[in-house]
Amino acid sequence: RNNAEKFEFQAEVSRLMDILINSLYSNKDIFLREIISNASDALDKIRFLSLTDKEVLGEGDDTKLEIQIKLDKENKILTIRDRGVGMTKEELIKNLGTIAKSGTSAFMEKMQTRGDLNLIGQFGVGFYSVYLIADYVEVISKHNDEKQYVWESKADGAFAISEDTYNEPLGRGTEIRLHLKDEAGEYLEESKLKDLVRKYSEFINFPIYLWASKEVDVEVPAEDNDSSDDEEKPESTDGEEKEDEDSDKDEDEEKPKTKTIKETTYEWEHLNDVKAIWLRSPKEVTEEEYMKFYHSLAKDFGDEKPLAWSHFNAEGDVEFKAVLFVPTKAPTDLYESYYTANRSNLKLYVRRVFISDEFDALLPKFLQFLMGLVDSDTLPLNVSREMLQQHDSLKTIKKKLIRKALDMIRKLAEEDPDESHDHKDKKVAEVEESKENDEKRGQYTKFWNEFGKSIKLGIVEDSTNRNRLAKLLRFKTTKSDGKLTSLDQYISRMKSGQKDIFYITGSIKDQLEKSPFLERLKKKNFEVIFFTDPMDEYLMQYLMEYEDKKFQNVSKEGLKLGKDSKDKEVKESFKELTKWWKETLASENVDDVKISNRLADTPCVVVTNKYGWSANMERIMQSQTL
Ligand code: ADP
Ligand code: MG
Repeated sequence: RNNAEKFEFQAEVSRLMDILINSLYSNKDIFLREIISNASDALDKIRFLSLTDKEVLGEGDDTKLEIQIKLDKENKILTIRDRGVGMTKEELIKNLGTIAKSGTSAFMEKMQTRGDLNLIGQFGVGFYSVYLIADYVEVISKHNDEKQYVWESKADGAFAISEDTYNEPLGRGTEIRLHLKDEAGEYLEESKLKDLVRKYSEFINFPIYLWASKEVDVEVPAEDNDSSDDEEKPESTDGEEKEDEDSDKDEDEEKPKTKTIKETTYEWEHLNDVKAIWLRSPKEVTEEEYMKFYHSLAKDFGDEKPLAWSHFNAEGDVEFKAVLFVPTKAPTDLYESYYTANRSNLKLYVRRVFISDEFDALLPKFLQFLMGLVDSDTLPLNVSREMLQQHDSLKTIKKKLIRKALDMIRKLAEEDPDESHDHKDKKVAEVEESKENDEKRGQYTKFWNEFGKSIKLGIVEDSTNRNRLAKLLRFKTTKSDGKLTSLDQYISRMKSGQKDIFYITGSIKDQLEKSPFLERLKKKNFEVIFFTDPMDEYLMQYLMEYEDKKFQNVSKEGLKLGKDSKDKEVKESFKELTKWWKETLASENVDDVKISNRLADTPCVVVTNKYGWSANMERIMQSQTL
């Protein structure tokens, strides 16, 4: 267009668009989901603004928070419009093309390895998926603060922006016009679009309408040359003037002057009339619905199931409804910048109105891997996000969410048949054949491998729930045969008279297994836990006891394996040697030299003082300061 301003896409975006427009990928369907999801975000934004300022909604049709889809078969244009917040000129430039987004390269990497476009929405570049099916795209947008603008691009490395003086005024919101590629004709079929909306956009909380054709019966005057000719003759011969109305009617019924034909009309058809899942009773929601809901939250539309979910309704002082999911996989960077990054995956709604998905006051750090949604009736609607973040009720909500989350994880363990290998005889036999059981097999191990670190961080951070979290710990031991086991199982195997829970820390299990510290314990048939994660040293500074049993690091001073009758005698006879040794090594090198009963074959061993760092901890600290 004349007087349009030209811009170049940032190089990475341009490359991504290039790939998309020339793409042979089969799952092009996803573009509609991405566009609808953006429309829904824009509607959420204006609705949120309207909580404190009703004026922003405007009047008439502009107050309708909805999404409309229209087809133009003749010109091969598919149009999606929303009455969301719209974009200013500045925002059009910034959001659709120029800003370097780390998401682009992250997504392209993923796409090249997995060959899957499905995750595009996770990387903040979903908009560009329109170039899978369109070779020319116009984005017309009207923001309350500005005039109407058009953004347009043919995916040739550049885009243009101009003030819109030729299209119809939008009032407010955004209209995306997709000029479809020749081979994308299927997206002009109403049935295809209906299918896509039902499949992918079921959980959008605004009505989605399609300008859909409808065959209707219409009465039209019967044509002159056939029936009316026949009618007129008898009428003209015995026309009675007095019984005007009555006789007319009788005649119409016998010999109709009109006929019915099929005609195509258009009307807005509402495509997503489903009640929000979290408002329904958990009993009514099917597993498939939860799965779909999870996929829409995770923006991952594969067929993987979440590991667990929990849907509940909290009553009392603070009322809220919530759905929580344990995702299938942990994001690769989950533990990077753990304390500083906000990783909230929980959406907060207040009375059905979306408020934020960046509220990190709802879940503690260690549970921020959970996904889901909270909708509260107790929180106030007409305050700023900042004020909400400090509302007292949030504390109560948080407490309940933690409780429910830990319950959900505990259940995942309880229902996993692999977890009960110790009580094989009864439990497993009973349900061995059930199919449901097979599905749950190994699920807790999966959870542990993905999110075990979070449980450990929880033990460190959350003293209130420490015991509940400790129950969820898994580790290998000298007796677990390479399998994971739990503290409860360890305790059930403790020897009579054993008071402490023994463990050893290090980096490699095979090395630990040969450690002289274990000689005597093995001989006496005590079980020892291997803690081989660097995190475990840190963990054990917080986990002092479990079910009234103390933890004892077997490489530290204070190990008691029960009295030996000869102890005193031996001590006495080596008194001179230990004294000489201690003097020779000098006090800055060792605290003490003692006769020990922890060894069987090895003559001597260096042990850490009760309050000192273990050798493993020294190693970890050293590697951190390097
Ligand atoms: P994401 O939605 O993850 O941010 P997208 O590539 O899908 O990434 O969209 C980029 C940005 O463009 C959005 O964040 C939003 O600011 C803007 N945008 C896209 N579509 C619309 C729309 N319909 N209304 C308002 N803003 C939009
Ligand atoms: Mg998006």
